[in-house]
Amino acid sequence: MNYQARAIGLGIDYDAYFDRALGQLHQERRYRVFADLERLAGRFPHAIWHSPEGERDVVIWCSNDYLGMGQHPKVVGAMVDAATRMGTGAGGTRNIAGTNHPLIELERELADLHGKQAALVFTSGYVSNETGISTIAKLLPNCLLLSDSLNHNSMIEGVRKAGTEKQIWRHNDTAHLEQLLRAADPDRPKLIICESLYSMDGDVAPLHRICDLAERYGALTYVDEVHAVGMYGPRGGGIAERDGAMDRIDILEGTLAKAYGCLGGYIAANANLIDAVRSYAPGFIFTTALPPPVCAAATAAIRHLKTSQWERQRHQDRAARLKAVLHAAGLPVMPSDTHIVPVHVGNPEKCKLASDLLLSEHGIYIQPINYPTVPRGQERLRITPSPYHDDGLIDALAEALVEVWARLQLRRYEDRGL
Ligand code: PLP
Repeated sequence: MNYQARAIGLGIDYDAYFDRALGQLHQERRYRVFADLERLAGRFPHAIWHSPEGERDVVIWCSNDYLGMGQHPKVVGAMVDAATRMGTGAGGTRNIAGTNHPLIELERELADLHGKQAALVFTSGYVSNETGISTIAKLLPNCLLLSDSLNHNSMIEGVRKAGTEKQIWRHNDTAHLEQLLRAADPDRPKLIICESLYSMDGDVAPLHRICDLAERYGALTYVDEVHAVGMYGPRGGGIAERDGAMDRIDILEGTLAKAYGCLGGYIAANANLIDAVRSYAPGFIFTTALPPPVCAAATAAIRHLKTSQWERQRHQDRAARLKAVLHAAGLPVMPSDTHIVPVHVGNPEKCKLASDLLLSEHGIYIQPINYPTVPRGQERLRITPSPYHDDGLIDALAEALVEVWARLQLRRYEDRGL
């Protein structure tokens, strides 16, 4: 008997609750549909879209595999080789099954990348933040958490789970952060939490100013480099490496799922802190470790990007060209200091419609970004070029956007007085 049938007996219509929740999303135009895609290794950013009408060739413009490392021969080769030699899964949590050697190598590689004594790998960047932040905070008696107002949901959940006092500072506003630090008890442990590169607007945190304050007020710093590792700094150590701030930050967090093209997350810090998190974090202890092939592939990607500059330089070149071409076409490119290229729409329905038209009429895939990912009125198409988006693809994207903008009567630069 399924739950619906049982519900009739009990007089509770369980399905109605789910229906109502979904109905609300539809009503608010927030119901999400994911495209059914098949990426083509060796031909990225091209992919097959399994549309309701059949298979179609499309170009992906919104992947967070920012450097196309998910198809790099060294990365694919390392994954296949490890799977052939060691099999697929990790065989359990590290507490139960021990650690597979590729994971040890990966953690060494990450510690070296960030110039820290140790690193600890989790099953995703989300888990690293959620369990990392909450565990560190719980290990510090009466810890005060100071969190940037635009921090990612995984960090917000980490702060929430910590169960200690939190204060939110206005986004990237170090004067506000200082005000909060000054008001706090000087003897109380404090943890400042921020991202280095905010992925919706593409703006960057003032890391040195934050570290100055941390030093002045005796706080620890926790910086999420998820959208920067692999892409910035001479070895891909992120914005902190680029800005020469790496050794001033206590805990660096990152992902293996974006520029490194795999899956998993991590923190890097002093050996003692890492050992304590390893020993106390539920999100580390009670879940199966990353599979050896994933670890081997991530290590190959990190090693490659520690020495190769081609991907980083070409990535920046593509982002600059894309911004210039869209700008010249009168499209409302939002200001961004980095590789993220947001184009403002400002209406959830039109944002979704624009995305639908790009896919169905132009074979271009860009997922709409609506509330709650961004504030209402800030709905946008978030475009992420890779080293493999050539001039022809950029020009085709600009033409398609201009056509869709005209069709939906969306505002362009001239209409906005920009
Ligand atoms: N931190 C930030 C800032 C993110 O944007 C994301 C995901 O997009 C994560 C953490 C989670 O990383 P992962 O995708 O590896 O779980």
